[in-house]
Amino acid sequence: MAEHNVVLTIPEPGRVELKERPYPKIAPGYSLVQIEIAPVCIEHQVYKEHRFEWHSDAERQGHEGVGTIIEALPGSKFKPGDRVIIYQGNPCQECFVCQRGLSPTHCLSIPYEALTETQNPDSVLEALGGGKAIDAPGGLKSIENECGSESGGFGFSKYRIAPDYMIQQIPDDLSFRYAALANCSLGCTYTGIEEAGVQKDDWVVVAGVGFIGFGSIINAKYRGAKVIVLGRNPFRMEQARKMGADYIVNPDDDDWLEQIHELTGGLRGADVVIEASGYPYYQKKALQAVRRFGTVWLYGFLVETSEPLPIRLLDEIHNRGVKLSGSHDVHVKHREGLLRMLRNPETQAAADHIITHEYNMSQGAEAFEAALSKQAGKIFLYPQENCDSPGVSAELRELVAGHTDQTGG
Ligand SMILES: [Zn+2]
Ligand SMILES: [Zn+2]
Repeated sequence: MAEHNVVLTIPEPGRVELKERPYPKIAPGYSLVQIEIAPVCIEHQVYKEHRFEWHSDAERQGHEGVGTIIEALPGSKFKPGDRVIIYQGNPCQECFVCQRGLSPTHCLSIPYEALTETQNPDSVLEALGGGKAIDAPGGLKSIENECGSESGGFGFSKYRIAPDYMIQQIPDDLSFRYAALANCSLGCTYTGIEEAGVQKDDWVVVAGVGFIGFGSIINAKYRGAKVIVLGRNPFRMEQARKMGADYIVNPDDDDWLEQIHELTGGLRGADVVIEASGYPYYQKKALQAVRRFGTVWLYGFLVETSEPLPIRLLDEIHNRGVKLSGSHDVHVKHREGLLRMLRNPETQAAADHIITHEYNMSQGAEAFEAALSKQAGKIFLYPQENCDSPGVSAELRELVAGHTDQTGG
């Protein structure tokens, strides 16, 4: 048995350091997982700017992952050897959000209102009872606190502790590679597409495409929708087509909205618009591209530095009957359907184009640089340092070479 854990830290902008930590301890209700793949989500932004989400700090990063159970306590439904997906968070399991099987990162135990009421960190800490934001209930640090463990609550760990409620067993016929997309690529977008009510032959616009946008395309195609991508990065548009996007509209075109109206005919807009960038540029266009009584779903909550979007509620929502919502991750009640989708051969073929880079966790800096290049989809880290062929996928290497002339590199 290993004597220590290894975690990825970002001690200062532009620097990654693997650190040894005490081997994790678990308490009832929690199991210990040897992490095989820890996907990168927004940690490249932390690497760039050292701006942290409320639940993380420089020493504690990552929230996605798949692996193998190595320790479970009596009474757990898991046993050593089980291959599992870990979902993010440490929800109360008792509030109405949890009881209705909604996504645990919206659990009432998480004091979002206190966290967002003010930009003043002191007031936030006061609202949290004088603790540190990362110690707030529902966050990953609370897993370490409740287990009395000095490591293991976070995704970029060799060994990770997970609440049993947040673990899902992976069927034998599903590889870790595809299962690892169950978090913030195909997973959170499964829930958005389902909640937005996307049906066969619906028109779906995906605005602002990174890996969340890619995940939205694959989910919309899985439902049989017709997908228009609003985007302009040549690499990403080519990848979007391979994932099944039916049309690409350049948002910089003067007539971009007319193009969408022409495609959608009498509807004059998309049934559902997925906003996947977080930038006002695309948020404004998302509100314009949706049809009357259509739905706009927001994912771009991560760009905390962007200015608030001014919305004229009467003109943009009320007169047009538009429904506007958003979410973070996978509803508990959607986990079964998500697994079914991940086992679908067509979904897997499309998903092969999402995974553009794979690295050992010790190569974290390279992974974050790749993510910042804007020529990446989903990036996987291997905390066991057993990645077969680290680096960029062969497909992407060819694609980037082909585009160097047009994009200036
Ligand atoms: Zn994520
Ligand atoms: Zn709850």
